[in-house]
Amino acid sequence: MEKTTATTLILLLISFFLQQTLSKEIGEDAAERTVKQEKQHAHEVHCSRERSRAAWNIVEEYLMPFVERENYQISSKCRLHPDNDLFRDQEQHKIHVDINEWKCGYCKKSFRAEKYIDQHFDSRHYNLLNVSEGKCLADLCGALHCDFVMNSKSPKTKCNPAAVAKNRHLCESLADTCFPLNQGRSASHLHELFLHQFCDAHTCSGKKKHFPKGRKKQTSVIYLALSILTLMLLPLFYLIVYLYQREMRQGTQNLRRITRVGQKTKPS
Ligand SMILES: [Zn+2]
Repeated sequence: MEKTTATTLILLLISFFLQQTLSKEIGEDAAERTVKQEKQHAHEVHCSRERSRAAWNIVEEYLMPFVERENYQISSKCRLHPDNDLFRDQEQHKIHVDINEWKCGYCKKSFRAEKYIDQHFDSRHYNLLNVSEGKCLADLCGALHCDFVMNSKSPKTKCNPAAVAKNRHLCESLADTCFPLNQGRSASHLHELFLHQFCDAHTCSGKKKHFPKGRKKQTSVIYLALSILTLMLLPLFYLIVYLYQREMRQGTQNLRRITRVGQKTKPS
């Protein structure tokens, strides 16, 4: 009798112990899973970094030079304001050291290519993203012609009137919020420019040029280098011309001498 109670007691103890460990493991598993899910959830940013970057570059190139010229301050209500780009802080912490070297400005880690530093930002510094509504620049790509810029040569696709109308509407609403017509001369001037630069091309009828007002004068450096080069080459050019002409003159003089000598010898 005592034997059986002892064995049942032992068995009970064993089962209790097993249950404990099992439940603990399962609990840990579940906890881990929720943490992972949370992480994944936090990582899920429904905004394309690449397209946001393209939109930013377009704004920098085709809009900001004019805004700066007008000395106009874009309000934070405007979706093109730097504060409304959720990747802006990360992009500013991207240090392009060399062609094949990118450095993370937060932790100083180096990368061989931009796509790796992008991945690093996504996995390591995602907590720094300002994920709130309406801060995705990529959402404005339709209005800003990102596809045209990214594909450089736009594929010959049929014009979709509904999509074009939607993009045009988005474009015009950007002009209204960023450059309100009731905010003075500069604002109304930029409003008109924005419509011309970005919105007019949203049409199916006829060919409208993208960014007809041109871009930032990036050529200034090239222009400067070229002018310095010309200034350096100009004296060299004149020197060559001078030497060549001197050579020619000498040549003709020699010829004259020869002919004179020839003429002199002829009569005799
Ligand atoms: Zn880092």
